[in-house]
Amino acid sequence: MEVPNRFYKEWIEDYHPELIQSAIKSVTDSDVSLKFRIADREDPAQKKIDAKIENRKSKLARKGIFLNPRYTFENFVSGPSNGVAYEAAKAVAQEPGRKYNPMFVYGGVGLGKTHLITAIGNRIVDLAPDLQVLYVSAEQFTTEVVSAFRHNKAEELKRKYRNLDVLLIDDVQYVENKDYTQEELFHTINALYERQKQIVLSSDRPPKEIRQVTDRLRSRFSMGLTADIQLPEFELRRGIIEKKAAENGIDVPPDVVDLVAHKVKTNVRDMEGCLIRLGAHSSLTGSPINVAMAKTVLRDIIQDSDKPLTVDGILKGVAEHFGLKAAELKARKRTKGIAQPRQIAMYLARELTEQSLSDIGKQMGGKDHATVIYACKQVEKRRAADENYDRMVETLRNNIKA
Ligand code: ADP
Ligand code: MG
Repeated sequence: MEVPNRFYKEWIEDYHPELIQSAIKSVTDSDVSLKFRIADREDPAQKKIDAKIENRKSKLARKGIFLNPRYTFENFVSGPSNGVAYEAAKAVAQEPGRKYNPMFVYGGVGLGKTHLITAIGNRIVDLAPDLQVLYVSAEQFTTEVVSAFRHNKAEELKRKYRNLDVLLIDDVQYVENKDYTQEELFHTINALYERQKQIVLSSDRPPKEIRQVTDRLRSRFSMGLTADIQLPEFELRRGIIEKKAAENGIDVPPDVVDLVAHKVKTNVRDMEGCLIRLGAHSSLTGSPINVAMAKTVLRDIIQDSDKPLTVDGILKGVAEHFGLKAAELKARKRTKGIAQPRQIAMYLARELTEQSLSDIGKQMGGKDHATVIYACKQVEKRRAADENYDRMVETLRNNIKA
């Protein structure tokens, strides 16, 4: 059975694995096996990309390398929140072992770590097909280490890992509390490093927060370049959604891109989830994607984040973030340490609640509406001028909403 793109395939396989098959069975009264095939695409640009992926796929298969051929630099969208990691990854792929070694990239769930380190591998396979590249999750590495020790195959394991040109280890925080694995990893990194072979590590947190590893291993983690991936800002979220939609042949109008970018903030995978739903719904009902339809189809996601927030709740969230008490924010004190969080609280109250400015002022300890306007202006100004501040407010807003 032919389907228009992989979103449809995944949707049907995930949500209705037996449905079509049993429908065919009930009509034809015979057992059938059913496979889905993704239709060739008409857009020549996309066709070219597809061909490239197919090509890479067979190259990887021939070399026995396990790498997702779809995760490349070309379809990784960069912005302020991931720009350093992105540029560093490209530099590493260009000259493995020469620039940043090891490269350590960290960030929250679903923010593109696996995509980025896989892209390094794919680019190297494209540019320098003779190099030995290996991608492994830290979990799989651990399994291999344990099994090697159990079956007396430590030498084999060493040969496998220490002769590589490029080693990509995903989710390295997994080795916490695993002594043998840490030991093996430490020596593997050393061996590769000494021979100027590239090591790339990803983790859900920075090296210093991976506490349950030996000091010497942790110091290896941060010996080269450490780059983080932060929550994507609005523009980047838009960019990613547009890219994914185009990549998967789903026609999403700009106001729906905006809607999804406004509602889904903390995980890129969830944005893709929204697209899958929209694409599948549109195809199955034959209706185009628009805002009204998106609001219905994504009801649960959108509603979740539309829980009404109270000024008090926001005060609490902001106070907590700054290690203050809500009462301190309401009081009259004007020291900088309090005035700034207070302004942020007013700003977020205006953004996240439907309350009038004077109502917000009242609940902020009897301020008037001009004070609230002033606070909002200050925060806006500073958000525009100071990237870190901007990100901090955005993170705070997401946390409060969640
Ligand atoms: P992580 O490993 O950090 O949990 P992944 O690399 O698995 O996250 O990313 C989750 C999904 O989001 C993937 O499908 C990936 O392609 C996509 N993604 C994340 N960040 C980006 C980005 N900047 N551009 C394009 N796609 C992205
Ligand atoms: Mg990952």
